[in-house]
Amino acid sequence: MVRNVLDPLRRNLGLRLNLWYAVLFTVCSAALFLLLYVLLTHALEVKEREVLEAQLQRYATLYQAGGVSALRRALFREDATPREKPFFVRLLSPRNTVLVVLAPEEWLTFEDIEPGWDGYRRQVGVLRIPKDEEKDFALASLVFPDGTLLQVGRSASKRAMLLDPFRRTFLGAFGVIVVLGFAAGALFVNRAMLPVRQIIGTARSIIATGRLESRVPLRPRRDELDELAGLFNTLLDRNQALIRGMREALDNVAHDLRTPLARLRGAAEQALRNAGDLASAQAALADCVEESDRVLSMLNTLMDISEAEAGTLRLQRRSTDLHRLLAEVVEVYGVVAEEKRVALRHPSSVPVEAVVDETRMRQVLGNLLDNAIKYTDPGGEVTAGVNVEGEQAVVRVRDTGHGIPAGELDRIWARLYRGDRSRSQRGLGLGLSLVKAVVEAHGGTVGVASRPGTGSDFTVRVPRTGAG
Ligand code: ADP
Repeated sequence: MVRNVLDPLRRNLGLRLNLWYAVLFTVCSAALFLLLYVLLTHALEVKEREVLEAQLQRYATLYQAGGVSALRRALFREDATPREKPFFVRLLSPRNTVLVVLAPEEWLTFEDIEPGWDGYRRQVGVLRIPKDEEKDFALASLVFPDGTLLQVGRSASKRAMLLDPFRRTFLGAFGVIVVLGFAAGALFVNRAMLPVRQIIGTARSIIATGRLESRVPLRPRRDELDELAGLFNTLLDRNQALIRGMREALDNVAHDLRTPLARLRGAAEQALRNAGDLASAQAALADCVEESDRVLSMLNTLMDISEAEAGTLRLQRRSTDLHRLLAEVVEVYGVVAEEKRVALRHPSSVPVEAVVDETRMRQVLGNLLDNAIKYTDPGGEVTAGVNVEGEQAVVRVRDTGHGIPAGELDRIWARLYRGDRSRSQRGLGLGLSLVKAVVEAHGGTVGVASRPGTGSDFTVRVPRTGAG
């Protein structure tokens, strides 16, 4: 039963926050009132005691100057004037005989006896302070050198008169404070939880409709919840881009596989048709092997790119001189460049050590040089160098080739993307994707600056320490 009642509370953060707020608000208000009450009571007490002490001093001076009769005269004169006065004044002889007493009528019990030695007819027998006055009764006393005792007392009922309305007002206002606390809490929680509700709404709408375009509306304020909403949107942006990229990649792979597979099928059919002709059957089979290699190479590269992007590509990192590595790759591509009559330069430099996977970096440099030579016309020039910038090793491959149109610059790194002008050249459209994925798996970055007709300038930066 209790579980059932508490269940919505457990599931509703807003309600829980609201209750907490209301409870806190009420407790704080009560604590504030209590503090005020205690301070006020204390201040009144202090003031009362001061007044009492002052009265005591005044009566003491009177007594010392004019004796019992002067004190009595003054007292009864004051008693007759209707103004605020101490309720109780008593002067006791050293033998405890009451010399003078002044107290509210109802406090005194009289014995009607014959006039005593002082001629005063009403001799006080007992002084009885009523119970409710007793607890608030303040008394100041003074013993004179001759042993006489002077007491001045006063009921604190005046204090109670001041404090009572204060207490009653608070008790009356308590209900209002609770309601106010709950209402303010509801308002505050409602506003504070708005981004959370919007995030939930957006997530629900994406799950229900499958449309990835929904985003949480952002407020101009930048508190933690707005930041969360912003991060949630960024996450959705990334997911959307990733899913779009995957779809496109899948489409491209399907599209790009169709041609070699169709060719493969055609060659196999040809071989079947000319089964009697061994030479043409062999040629067809050789075509089949070539096409299969092409498909395999494409699939392998795609797998490498996926692994590098997912962070599962195993990198055998060790300190490597990138200058030496570049020199080796330049040497390999020297033949291709020469055949195409493209000048391939590699300015000498000091060793540039970086902690990298040598085989993978060789692939990176190879792809950049291959592209540079491929997209540069005979008579052109390709320059590849490496140097150090701060904590990074920077490889640059520049060519004087076709260049890349500004509109294509962002897309050249995408899987299976091939520039319009490049389709006549051999290639799978995977070289730069692999370069980017491998370099980023090393914690590095890639960049390109290019102008059509002038040439391209590719940059690869990797941290020298291998951090990243
Ligand atoms: P591929 O070279 O197989 O087409 P890449 O991924 O290596 O694929 O390159 C993608 C595209 O980038 C190329 O099709 C080409 O349009 C452009 N590109 C790459 N390198 C260069 C370069 N050095 N000069 C001009 N265009 C380039």
